[in-house]
Amino acid sequence: MFFPKKVLMEKEALNYPVGERVYKFSRQHNIPVEVLPKTVRFTSMEEKPLKKFLEAKETLAVVVKKKIQFLTCKPSADYQLPLITSCPGLCTYCYLFTNLGKTPYLRVYANTGEIFQKAKEIINKNARLTAFEGSATSDPVAVEPITGSLKEAISFFAQIELGRFRFTTKFTDIDSLIDLDHRFRTEIRFSINTPYIIKKYEFRTPCLEARLEASKKIKKAGYPLGFLIAPVFVYDGWERDYRKLLEQLAGAMDGLYFTLEIISHRFTARAKSNIEVLFPRHGLPLGEENRRYQFGQFGYGKYVYDKDNFNKLKEFFYQEVPKILPQVKILYIV
Ligand code: SF4
Repeated sequence: MFFPKKVLMEKEALNYPVGERVYKFSRQHNIPVEVLPKTVRFTSMEEKPLKKFLEAKETLAVVVKKKIQFLTCKPSADYQLPLITSCPGLCTYCYLFTNLGKTPYLRVYANTGEIFQKAKEIINKNARLTAFEGSATSDPVAVEPITGSLKEAISFFAQIELGRFRFTTKFTDIDSLIDLDHRFRTEIRFSINTPYIIKKYEFRTPCLEARLEASKKIKKAGYPLGFLIAPVFVYDGWERDYRKLLEQLAGAMDGLYFTLEIISHRFTARAKSNIEVLFPRHGLPLGEENRRYQFGQFGYGKYVYDKDNFNKLKEFFYQEVPKILPQVKILYIV
């Protein structure tokens, strides 16, 4: 479980249940809390970028979100639901390097009630099923025992017939979600990868077995369940390793239905330059050769695998998944 080293609390955040819970948790666990009268900003005395980065990853700020906006979130959902930004994990390839830079300190939004109210207005206006993604800028499960934000969100969406909520995690702190009355309106997805990739790049995250165990509990609790295999890397022996991963998944799920989203490795120029400063020996395949440049929905491009590699990868999963996991629906491979 994650314990921040320091909590920065906007004074106003204490007026909300999330703020109260974080404050109480910090006091119980002797975590220093700095209550600040105005907007919280992360600063560090460290000079080395990696030390600054690690300090940011262990700092939890609780703030009141002033401008509540719902950005689009294709292909995963209609909109992002802003609950938390950043994550305590240390994955060297992390997609957050594009937008959060080299000091991605954790920000928890205290005014969840106002955020849910805005979401409700959007759902009513759309008058159709409208899905919100809770992990577009974070891994919210990693801090759930401290914030309780997901518990609130799941309970909120359970009351809204046309609302749907989904989030993805590599973490296993899901016990407080098990007994909730979710009414099948929240889908929980686990992000998994081959043990080789987890060991090489996904530092400070639970191992594959622990993620599969947590996913079994979620399935048993009746939540719609999904898995993301992401990011898929093409490396020597990748087919053998991903086949084994599918077999492990089949063993854990024992014929139960779930969805699968498969995302090949990609990176932006901005993420690459941050990663190279922080982890000079990252070992990631960040060369631009064998890559294709693709424009994304947020106005910046990404380097994705070239057609040859991507087609191989796509073919592999479209062939192997029906053989090993015949009950599963592949939502997309990108
Ligand atoms: S768990 Fe997800 S959000 Fe957290 S560091 Fe890893 S890739 Fe980034």
